[in-house]
Amino acid sequence: MNPLCVLTGMLILLTIPHITSAQKTKQEVLKSIDAGYEPYSTIARKIWELAEVGFQETQSSALLQKTLSDAGFTVEKGVAGMPTAFLAGYGDGKPVIGILAEFDALPGVSQDAVPERKEVGGRPAGHACGHHLFGTASTAAAIAVKNWLAANRMQGTIRLYGTPAEEGGSGKVYMVREGLFKDVDVVFHWHPGAENDAGPSSSLANKNGKFRFYGIASHAAASPERGRSALDAVEAMDYMVNMMREHVSQETRIHYVITRGGEAPNVVPAFAEVYYYARHPKRPEAKDLWERLVHAAQGAALGTDTKVEVEVTGGVYDVLPNETLAKIIDKNLREVGGYTYSDREKEFASKIQGSFTGMKPSLDETGKIKEYKLHGAEGGGSTDVGDVSWVVPTAGFSTATWVPGTAAHSWQAVAAGGTSIGMKGMMMAAKTLASSVLDVYSNPSIIEEAWKELKSKTGADFLYEPLIGDRKPALNYRK
Ligand SMILES: [Zn+2]
Repeated sequence: MNPLCVLTGMLILLTIPHITSAQKTKQEVLKSIDAGYEPYSTIARKIWELAEVGFQETQSSALLQKTLSDAGFTVEKGVAGMPTAFLAGYGDGKPVIGILAEFDALPGVSQDAVPERKEVGGRPAGHACGHHLFGTASTAAAIAVKNWLAANRMQGTIRLYGTPAEEGGSGKVYMVREGLFKDVDVVFHWHPGAENDAGPSSSLANKNGKFRFYGIASHAAASPERGRSALDAVEAMDYMVNMMREHVSQETRIHYVITRGGEAPNVVPAFAEVYYYARHPKRPEAKDLWERLVHAAQGAALGTDTKVEVEVTGGVYDVLPNETLAKIIDKNLREVGGYTYSDREKEFASKIQGSFTGMKPSLDETGKIKEYKLHGAEGGGSTDVGDVSWVVPTAGFSTATWVPGTAAHSWQAVAAGGTSIGMKGMMMAAKTLASSVLDVYSNPSIIEEAWKELKSKTGADFLYEPLIGDRKPALNYRK
């Protein structure tokens, strides 16, 4: 048993504290979230253990849905053609405030909640991006806001968006395309991280998908001339793309994995598949890069006498920061404040840092909030929050759910996310989200200002066109 994990067993006892009619101030709302530490940690830990990958998050999604419906939300599940997507709403009329919740894990990063590399048998995936904390903190915040709306008899709607398959599945894109954000005034989100930071940042637009090559099988030694290798086509494509790297702009990111490469060396592979991401801070450039990948694939197929099929499995916009909302989050993050490690957590964190190849920032960083500043897309990642941010004013932040210096998508992120370190960061996030939402209900002029900023950034004639086109959700992209 991990010594940092205060939670035992898999049984979820939902004793989420309900606000009383006397609890009307922000301070009281924050206290009610703090009082939910145990049930919310149990929920997060359960989702961490389930580690369900994109579009297969059946139990994780159901757990969050149940938590919300038990708390009085109306839940609509299976929205926008995705069985694990849902909306949970409470309240009436305007303003409508949205909170995003993610819950998918990453394949191939199985890790126990211990400070050294240790895979967990029977669990092929891991929460290396901390989405178990993301979904749970957002749920905690939505419930606290709902209780506040009820206690104060306020008009307004709080809506939690249960958004599946963030990692490559572009779940939110289908929800935007379906028009599920049309009546929303502002959207808040957050993300697990290695520091506390509300400085708004952009992200890389990303178009991705699978190239499937079809050749002809034959005996690789006895009759190679009768075969046509699909793996050759993958290698030819990869070679061309790798040469292309010299002729793209500096900020470009292209990566691939060969997902199918044949079964046995003595059989000419009749089928091979390579999975590509093309990213750039500017959306039109990401689209152009994708077209160049398609050309390379066609050239590879021609040269190897194979056939190619292309499936776009995902595509996301760059995030459009909204400073009007970001400044409100930053103020609240500072009010909520950071946290410090217990002696045991310190020991765990030092061991984790011992495995780093890069920087080892001070462990005191968890107690600090980064200086507010506007970041670019240099963080390097992509997110389907991007699409949301172009159609409704959207802002987010990160808290230190991982040991300072931890890279996302690493085993170290999975490890800390399963302990009280992750839970402490998660509670900070829940409180910051709830406070920020309360500020908007209390001062609706923020909405007008946030929309003015959005319109000035997108331009008046901006028309949303998803990078995924009109395809249906790629429900099998992890299979
Ligand atoms: Zn993530």
